Amino acid sequence: MPNVLSQNAMTAVATYPRQARAIHLTTVPQPVLAGDNVIVDVIRVGICGTDKEIIDGHFGTAPNGSNELILGHEVLGKVVDIGDQVTSLTSGQLVVATVRRPDDCPMCRVGQSDFCLWRGYTEHGIIGRHGFMVERFAERPEYLIPVPDSLESLGVLVEPLSVVEKALRVTNAVQQRLLDWTPKTAVVIGAGPIGLLGTMLLRSLDVDVYTIARRPAPHLAASIVSACGAHYFSSSEHNVSVLTRDLSNIDVIFEASGDSEPVFTSMSLLGNNGVLVLLSLTGSDRSLPVPADAINREFVLGNKLMVGSVNSHYVDFVSGVERLATFESLWPGLTSRLMTARLQAFDDALHIRDAGGIKAVLEFAPR
Ligand code: BGC
Repeated sequence: MPNVLSQNAMTAVATYPRQARAIHLTTVPQPVLAGDNVIVDVIRVGICGTDKEIIDGHFGTAPNGSNELILGHEVLGKVVDIGDQVTSLTSGQLVVATVRRPDDCPMCRVGQSDFCLWRGYTEHGIIGRHGFMVERFAERPEYLIPVPDSLESLGVLVEPLSVVEKALRVTNAVQQRLLDWTPKTAVVIGAGPIGLLGTMLLRSLDVDVYTIARRPAPHLAASIVSACGAHYFSSSEHNVSVLTRDLSNIDVIFEASGDSEPVFTSMSLLGNNGVLVLLSLTGSDRSLPVPADAINREFVLGNKLMVGSVNSHYVDFVSGVERLATFESLWPGLTSRLMTARLQAFDDALHIRDAGGIKAVLEFAPR
């Protein structure tokens, strides 16, 4: 679709939340530069499972006063204009943006909106706040993380990586209960973007990683797992409990399958003193019969811990930027293989729900 607009308007990709497949192009006013913000030109935006849930009408809310929600929360952009009170960013600087904005709860007030107590937060492109699938946006510098030019091609992955960085930060924090804890063996459930980034993150720390997903190898995700030195197993080909029986104590499990059933399998697999981090948002209302006594007994006797983790903090984005550089030095070119489809805004925007592969990105920079 030709992008012919008046000078004061720009195009964005939006949906009507809670309506299935209501994705459409919309026109919004240009952002306004203020003293305390900067204008960011969008380069590209990643598409994740949450976006797909929103597009399918299962999740998401529009900002107050609007019936549509501009999509997109995984953004890489370039600062093009700077308010006169902003000293921390420069023009031309690449940046990524955090997703969540605080309510007034005690955690948000101390800068930890990723642990929001009242859950009255907003999230760009998800809950009550427009997202980044738009030509440019205005943002305050405290929500923008600089990305070096050398990571231009990978920067769009910082947001999903920050979610895994938070999982690691939480794991390390809760394991302070032990005077000595060095994780040796980890299991990652799921081989989507979060599962693969989690696998790479744990491998970069030299942990022995076993990544389990349904689909039998060979396929790209399985080859990414192997390329970073982890082991891929298909749960449709192997009994996971048998598979993991011979492993040494499983110290960490990142559950990122997008399903709730593997959570209970994971609870049974977790080793003594281990931590199971739940990262999947599950939309439906399924119930399951579970071996409740055995799980409870093993959790008590083994001092095991299960923790949910959502969203991420500014510090997780900073770690994510550094980690991408580490990934590049450990496995040159591997991370970029996660990006399996490059769609053009605004020609392909209406079809982003159908993009298969691991991670599709929507390109906003002029061709
Ligand atoms: C985003 C998080 C967000 C969560 C729930 C995820 O896709 O990465 O930042 O908190 O969805 O809305």
